[in-house]
Amino acid sequence: MASETSPLSNAEIADRLAGLAQLLSTQKENPYKIKAYQRAAAKIRTLPESVEELVHQDSDLTVYAGIGEAISQAVQEIVRTGTLGKLERLRSNAAPEIAGLSNYPRLDPKRVLRAYQKLGIASVDELRKKLESGELEQTLGSRVAQHVRQGVTEAHAMLLYRAHELREAVEHFLLDTCKARKAEAVGDYRRRVDTIEELAFIVETDDFSSLLERMEHYGGRTPLVASTRTSATFSLSSGVRLRIDRASKENWGLSLIKRTGSEAHLRKLTAATGGWDIVRKAGPFASEPDLYTKFHLSFIEPELREGYDEVERAQLGTLPMLVTVKNIRGELHAHSTSSDGSHSIEQMAIAARDFGYEYIGITDHSQSLKIARGVPIEELGKQIRFIDNLNSRLTGIRVLKSAEVDILDDGALDYPDELLKELDYTVCSVHSRFSLGKPEQTERILRAMDNRYFNILGHATGRLLLKRPGYELDMDRIIHHAKQNGCFFEINSSPARLDLSAENARLAREAGVKIAISTDAHSTREFGTVRYGIDQARRAGLEAASVLNCLQWPSLEPLFRR
Ligand SMILES: [Zn+2]
Ligand SMILES: [Zn+2]
Repeated sequence: MASETSPLSNAEIADRLAGLAQLLSTQKENPYKIKAYQRAAAKIRTLPESVEELVHQDSDLTVYAGIGEAISQAVQEIVRTGTLGKLERLRSNAAPEIAGLSNYPRLDPKRVLRAYQKLGIASVDELRKKLESGELEQTLGSRVAQHVRQGVTEAHAMLLYRAHELREAVEHFLLDTCKARKAEAVGDYRRRVDTIEELAFIVETDDFSSLLERMEHYGGRTPLVASTRTSATFSLSSGVRLRIDRASKENWGLSLIKRTGSEAHLRKLTAATGGWDIVRKAGPFASEPDLYTKFHLSFIEPELREGYDEVERAQLGTLPMLVTVKNIRGELHAHSTSSDGSHSIEQMAIAARDFGYEYIGITDHSQSLKIARGVPIEELGKQIRFIDNLNSRLTGIRVLKSAEVDILDDGALDYPDELLKELDYTVCSVHSRFSLGKPEQTERILRAMDNRYFNILGHATGRLLLKRPGYELDMDRIIHHAKQNGCFFEINSSPARLDLSAENARLAREAGVKIAISTDAHSTREFGTVRYGIDQARRAGLEAASVLNCLQWPSLEPLFRR
């Protein structure tokens, strides 16, 4: 029973739980149970403590979110025996094609089996070849190809919102266990890039090499990949790299600047300052403002340090005042129990008021979207009258009459004009036929924008970060058309969407098209995710003046009348 020579890392424990979820999904198992194992595996990958040690110390694992009694038992079994009886039983009874997937716990067996059948193959190796030759995508489409690509390559990226938790855990570990005097996240994370492949820190310490030694015990075992006297890279269980650079107290500001900006940004910055040698001689710089002031630059917010025009504008003193969460006055994209939301219109309204909002638009799905219980015409008529009545009863919040209207295949909107004109505004979205070619998909959206009741284009490209690329669009044409027709975009704050991307939001801003920062909330608990949308809006250089829902309703209303 005693622990063996080499302890199980958190990654190995998580792999077994994920493998169990994979095999359960081929049985007629409760999908919630499968999700629970997947969630627990993801949680364990981010934990700083060694789960094996926790088990040996008889610690209560259920204190961690996502680990209940059953999963705690499973983890204890893995630590004691190296595996799970249930996993081994399922694996030995599984068909060889399925058992062969166990090294790739993120592959969905059902999709893979379908691909095997269609392509007449029976192994992951062959599947990989079909992926590389493009045959997989041709035969089964881009979504399946994307799924397989992710499943067979090692995870090396995570969503920004998942990285927040990891950042916090690593930071505490650096300070408490590795005895760093100071530790601060830099790089892509600090710039709020939507997906992170590397989590980077700068640290202040007298003994960098013993700090690195201690770091190797993070999450049970975290391999050191490369190191120098002042810099090291680790491979974290969660799949991303961890980079740690040593910095001094006197030059903390200089190190922050060097390790935060993108390469393009740093090239422009060195051109403006005359190069790092000159900067170093002018130093030291304990803080970033010290350095910027010395070189007659205004402070450049981290989210802007991408190498567009921010350095020139810092010289001219014309940087934007970036939008913040405090500027947001209301929500323009939210669902209720009328379609696929979890809370009633009234509950959503009260929650929005408690959140500090002045208004909330209820945008339930339209009639054709059966999968999300789209609202039939008569029901929407009733909902409009219900909201009028609700507004006369409620104080401190205005409920806006709206809908998330499907853009149909031919670009028509999914409700008749007589009904649309009863609404305060619309969010119009594509939820079908993602596989249309770029010209057709672009035309479809342009035609929808020709309807005078089209106001905001919902989640413009339909992307799901790390899962599926969006459909291809000619964004220049769509932005131009939106400008001409008085249409708007949204940044969908759902952390897996963040769609518009920061790049497209920047283009829209430059064209003078206003953008809503929306959460697409499906429950009263989701308004807080607006901060992810704000992150991307700031990356796009948006000021409050470019954001629709920074306006009070009386100023917003006329913008929706075309
Ligand atoms: Zn939608
Ligand atoms: Zn929605």
